[in-house]
Amino acid sequence: MNVHEYQGKELLAKFGVGIPAGIAALTVEEAVAAAKQLPGPLYVVKAQIHAGGRGKGKFKELGPDAKGGVRLAKSIEEVEEFAKEMLGNTLVTIQTGEAGKQVNRLYVTDGVDIAKEYYLSMVVDRGTSRIALIVSTEGGMDIEEVAHSTPEKIATIVIDPVEGFMPHHGRAVGFALNLSGDLNKQAAKIAEQLYNAFVALDCDMLEINPLVETKDGNLLVLDTKMSFDSNSLYRHPDVFALRDETEEDPAEIEASKYDLAYIKLDGNIGCMVNGAGLAMATMDIIKLNGEFPANFLDVGGGANKEKVTAAFKIILKDPAVKGILVNIFGGIMKCDIIAEGIVAAAKEVNLQVPLVVRLEGTNVQQGKDILANSGLPIVAANDLGDAAKKIVAEVRAVA
Ligand code: ADP
Ligand code: MG
Repeated sequence: MNVHEYQGKELLAKFGVGIPAGIAALTVEEAVAAAKQLPGPLYVVKAQIHAGGRGKGKFKELGPDAKGGVRLAKSIEEVEEFAKEMLGNTLVTIQTGEAGKQVNRLYVTDGVDIAKEYYLSMVVDRGTSRIALIVSTEGGMDIEEVAHSTPEKIATIVIDPVEGFMPHHGRAVGFALNLSGDLNKQAAKIAEQLYNAFVALDCDMLEINPLVETKDGNLLVLDTKMSFDSNSLYRHPDVFALRDETEEDPAEIEASKYDLAYIKLDGNIGCMVNGAGLAMATMDIIKLNGEFPANFLDVGGGANKEKVTAAFKIILKDPAVKGILVNIFGGIMKCDIIAEGIVAAAKEVNLQVPLVVRLEGTNVQQGKDILANSGLPIVAANDLGDAAKKIVAEVRAVA
């Protein structure tokens, strides 16, 4: 789960991390009121969307010359002007994709006199089973370019979570950022505070870009991206409460209501499968046959008619879907029950795209008979390979 910049900063502040003063706003009036509470005379109005690259982003509605989603305002009037321009409009950044994201929230913060911008992030590194702390002297809006053309400017410090954050890790951060004296000490301290937050909040990613040195010699967190391990959210109700459903895929939210594990993908073959492993194998074999899955969908062990119908509806909401492959192993659920569910659901949603069904397991013959006698143009498949070939052929025939 991701949170907005201002929410991430508020969480980090509880661990002692220095952040500029700031207030979130949902309306132009709130943005103006927020600015009035800040010391001024420099304010920054920041679009809050779950994507980075806002500074260099463009608003669809404002034309190519307009400024992006992070704007320096020199007066309350400018705060008002920028808030009006941003709220309700669609910001396109390198991370949003072409569709962009509608800006529904702003963060009005104190303008900081920046001496230098650094980069700091942490991720769970599965390869080493450690936490990787990544730092660079070249922070700011071009970090992707730095990673690409001068990767030697990025240092990785590996922390064993059993050992925890040690003074030598802090020194390594200060050294990698080329800091001395008090700034060096501040870097070690802020890295430790961020590490503590990362572990305590069960983050899977934390990115501070930029971490800035101010002209008066302080290190501050100017931008935050934070994401949390969804499996841990049950023990962080305060973090879970920060979820912003408007930032998530509506189909994924709908699916979670029916306890369906659905993830939207880019292809054109909708998949309905029981079991995550079988769903992965199904996606693999579609790709092996030259097409791409439109989604991952695990209907779970107890798939009944209601669940199957909901799953069909969710898959079909995606206009890219040109065909559906159902791959169900009837273990606990019997194949005839599943077949009845598929037939009823296909009739209810008035299915218009080709449907290939592969059933295996208990009562498989009864299940196949139900599909064959349904009067629906369902293509039966004998095994997974056969199913993939058939759906790919069907989809290509339509195209
Ligand atoms: P994004 O990474 O989405 O583009 P950032 O929050 O990193 O958004 O802002 C982009 C740039 O804007 C920063 O690299 C920094 O130079 C400047 N900036 C952001 N916040 C402030 C602030 N409070 N004061 C001064 N400059 C800021
Ligand atoms: Mg940034």
